[in-house]
Amino acid sequence: MSDVTLTNVGKVYEGGVRAVEAVNLSIADGEFCVLVGPSGCGKSTTLRMIAGLEEISEGTLEISGVRVNDLPAKDRDIAFVFQNYALYPHLTVAQNVAFGLEQRRTHGNALTALLTGANAARAKESAAIAARVTEVSKTLGLNELLTRYPRELSGGQRQRVAVGRAIAREPKVFLFDEPLSNLDARLRIETRTELRLLHRRLRATIIYVTHDQEEAMTLADRLVVMHRGVIQQHASAQECYERPANRFVAGFIGTPPMNIVDGRVENGVFECNGARISLDARWTTTTKACAIGIRPDRLRLGAAHLEGALLATIVAVEHLGDRTDITLDSAWGRLTARVDADSAREMREGTAVGVTLDVQHAHLFELGECGARLNGA
Ligand code: ADP
Repeated sequence: MSDVTLTNVGKVYEGGVRAVEAVNLSIADGEFCVLVGPSGCGKSTTLRMIAGLEEISEGTLEISGVRVNDLPAKDRDIAFVFQNYALYPHLTVAQNVAFGLEQRRTHGNALTALLTGANAARAKESAAIAARVTEVSKTLGLNELLTRYPRELSGGQRQRVAVGRAIAREPKVFLFDEPLSNLDARLRIETRTELRLLHRRLRATIIYVTHDQEEAMTLADRLVVMHRGVIQQHASAQECYERPANRFVAGFIGTPPMNIVDGRVENGVFECNGARISLDARWTTTTKACAIGIRPDRLRLGAAHLEGALLATIVAVEHLGDRTDITLDSAWGRLTARVDADSAREMREGTAVGVTLDVQHAHLFELGECGARLNGA
């Protein structure tokens, strides 16, 4: 078992910067957990505390039920893959993959082995290392590259070698810090699929940091969405998308982002700047200032003077192949609608449209950056 538990973990850097605030997080054995959030939200600091590369200011970190706050990084049985791969340039692919295993040899170098009469044991260890390198190379498709040096590899291949070096040691937990950010867009998508498949095969516990919500959603069993050092939601990608805990998560997860408009709900009607839209039965008894959130694919565009619709002007039409994003100006401010390619054919910049909402898919939030989602009646 290699579950990871953080209890009230906080980090204050020297000089007083509070980077992480009372994090409570339980990552199950074998879980692919992705820490995601905008730059500076405390993801890397959290990961580095788990790795033992950063001191924990407050709280407790346990791996497999054992408190490891004071255990040095090298004794935590954790493998770390950074964004800049950090391969040894003077070692071949095979030697890079074997590196961690060589470090762990118990029978030392050839001379020590000779002096202590441990030659047979040493030979056995060498054979085991070679077998492990072959196995890992097969898993990652590195067989043909084993004698090459890092400078002779593409970015994606180097990244695979770095992953190979990490998995060769069979650690309890893998930590990845933005491992794909140096790859071009296409390779990033390919490598993330490979990582997902690899996780399925290894069933290892993985904690992965990225600022890219799409990467996070495709990889994670569960996302940990962070903002200002605080966990905003820890749930599956689908849950974060469909039932965001608060306005921050609602706006961060999903592309294009959810439309969020401040206003007021009264007698089942949401109003902003004098423009009103009727909501569903959940909100008939609610009266308060709040924000409405509606995903771009839940806006419907129709005739300009449609009864009960919000009047808007099309300011931009972006064709993305199978779908089209429409930017609108309205009394509710700027809105984005996502429509299918067929409906998009009639959309012209500068024309007026009537906007209606799939109201059963609308959310209401308390006011403020991290206002909680309201559940309704
Ligand atoms: P992320 O990985 O989400 O981009 P970080 O964990 O790197 O965020 O940083 C969180 C906060 O801590 C930021 O405000 C950052 O400026 C600050 N920070 C990070 N490292 C240090 C450091 N060594 N000393 C002081 N402040 C730091």
